[in-house]
Amino acid sequence: MNSLTSTVTLNNGVEMPWVGLGVYKSAPGSETETAVRYALDAGYRHVDTASFYENEQSVGVALAAHDVPVEEVFVTTKLWNDDHGFDRTLRAFDVSMEKLGLETLDLYLIHWPMPDTFAETWKALGRLYSEGRVRAIGVSNFLEHHLRTLAEQSEIVPAVNQIEFHPMLVQQPLLEYCRSFGIRVEAWSPLIRGLFFGHETIARVAEECGKTPAQVLVRWDLQHGVVTIPKSVHRERIVENADVFDFELSETQMQALDELDRNYRLGPHPDEIGR
Ligand code: NAD
Repeated sequence: MNSLTSTVTLNNGVEMPWVGLGVYKSAPGSETETAVRYALDAGYRHVDTASFYENEQSVGVALAAHDVPVEEVFVTTKLWNDDHGFDRTLRAFDVSMEKLGLETLDLYLIHWPMPDTFAETWKALGRLYSEGRVRAIGVSNFLEHHLRTLAEQSEIVPAVNQIEFHPMLVQQPLLEYCRSFGIRVEAWSPLIRGLFFGHETIARVAEECGKTPAQVLVRWDLQHGVVTIPKSVHRERIVENADVFDFELSETQMQALDELDRNYRLGPHPDEIGR
């Protein structure tokens, strides 16, 4: 892994760039369009959106307008909670694809494990996958028990589990479960939304490396084998967040960051969803 075009091979052979641009809370229209353009200009080849973010269309517009061929950009979108169920999922996928303006999607995720419907919803993702409409399918915010339920009911192993992941929330047993079943972990809120850039340990490691706290947090993901999608809409930060291939955290620095784990969540606990 040495550049923004470096990829990890998913469990079905699909190549996924290690670093992507997150666009949660990027406003639809010019804000998202320029963020995606800045990212592509900076060498990113991976964008993470969701129907819930209401900016799929803006992502599509930016991809279509850029010189980089759209097939060279890895695009993820997600199925929202209201759209679970077999038929509803298929319809929601069509709506997302129409907005994105894509023929084929790289990765489609179930955004949250709605307790009564995620297994049936997974079958619909399986259908989209078998029809070749999406190159890889996965889940988001799934805990081990959700993944076990899928494994009991389906032969298709998710390619990715996108979870809240940063030094304050490591979930080591979930990481190990995913690793042992070939499910690639992807980090959301990798920067902890900037809330802990001034934390003593994070600031110290950043200073030791001559890098910024954001770069240290992104690098920590990569050294854990976790795909990461930091969000910004500002050109200089988009560039900064991806400038992580010219340094390495030492074992001691990795360990110091690992020790910040305190089960701290920015988002809801996955078992609270849909209850
Ligand atoms: P993040 O941890 O990436 O933090 C983003 C925020 O950090 C920015 O809004 C900005 O305030 C700050 N920031 C970014 N770069 C900075 C820099 N270089 N210097 C200073 N401050 C900087 O948070 P996120 O947006 O929640 O997560 C990243 C992406 O993960 C999202 O955009 C989205 O694509 C995805 N996500 C997925 C889920 C899910 O349920 N699957 C949930 C949340 C986010």
